[in-house]
Amino acid sequence: MKTIKSPDEMQRVALDLKRAGKTIGFVPTMGFLHEGHLSLMKLARTRCDVLVVSIFVNPTQFGPAEDLDAYPRDFERDEFLCAQQGVDLIFYPEPGAMYSADSSVWVDEEALSGVLCGASRPGHFRGVCTVVAKLFNLVQPDLAVFGEKDAQQLRVIERMVRDLNFPVEIVRGPIVREPDGLAMSSRNKYLSEEQRRHALCLRRSLDLITSSVSKGTRNVSSLRKSMVDLIGEIPGAEIDYIEFVADDSLKPVLEVADRTLVALAVKFGKTRLIDNTVLVV
Ligand code: AMP
Repeated sequence: MKTIKSPDEMQRVALDLKRAGKTIGFVPTMGFLHEGHLSLMKLARTRCDVLVVSIFVNPTQFGPAEDLDAYPRDFERDEFLCAQQGVDLIFYPEPGAMYSADSSVWVDEEALSGVLCGASRPGHFRGVCTVVAKLFNLVQPDLAVFGEKDAQQLRVIERMVRDLNFPVEIVRGPIVREPDGLAMSSRNKYLSEEQRRHALCLRRSLDLITSSVSKGTRNVSSLRKSMVDLIGEIPGAEIDYIEFVADDSLKPVLEVADRTLVALAVKFGKTRLIDNTVLVV
């Protein structure tokens, strides 16, 4: 396994691999790896000759009041975990090498990015789309795996690939959870022991409405209220949003239909956690 820091070298190596007829699989991450990231690597590993993982805490997707500086980092541990998954190349650029001081071209998705996390984090998906477009140009992947944990991000990236004709297959990786149900996230590290216990309310609220839907409830305002009530009882839990939207358009729905996406974000102190499920009726 080799680590490449220079964007130019990454692109040269990738183009050489393509010329040699190799297929490239790609898993973009911000590092501080956990089983969720590793599951994406396992998925990609079976489907390509060369597996590239990027580790880059992308500054352009963080708002001014967000946790860019505090974001957890541990490159040595990440390197070890990548080696265990059979990763061939780690792309680990410095932020200064990825963006020129006078960068002025951005990729903006305009239909799916303004709701859910995009409403609470203005500019977030512009940063995500721009960095993923740049990474695709540098890594030249045939396929790239993204986690369903970030449901909106996945759909925004799929839309970008479709609308800008990137020759990349986007593969969806299922959400990996802790044994008690909390979706794995690098940000779980911020939680105190008590907040960690309280954080189970995200998954519990999703389980609650999944069960109501399976018993026939379709009315979104009553389903949403049962989630608000459950989370409202948890000390310190502050709801950022709970939304029921159509899976493909991310437009709000009033009645649950097949493939309604339920997504929520809840804050515990400064830590904002997200989770989601797709309801099948
Ligand atoms: P991040 O390092 O948080 O930017 O995440 C990198 C990739 O890992 C994204 O495609 C995420 O959706 C995915 N990911 C993060 N957490 C999980 C999880 N618990 N299960 C599956 N995929 C995940």
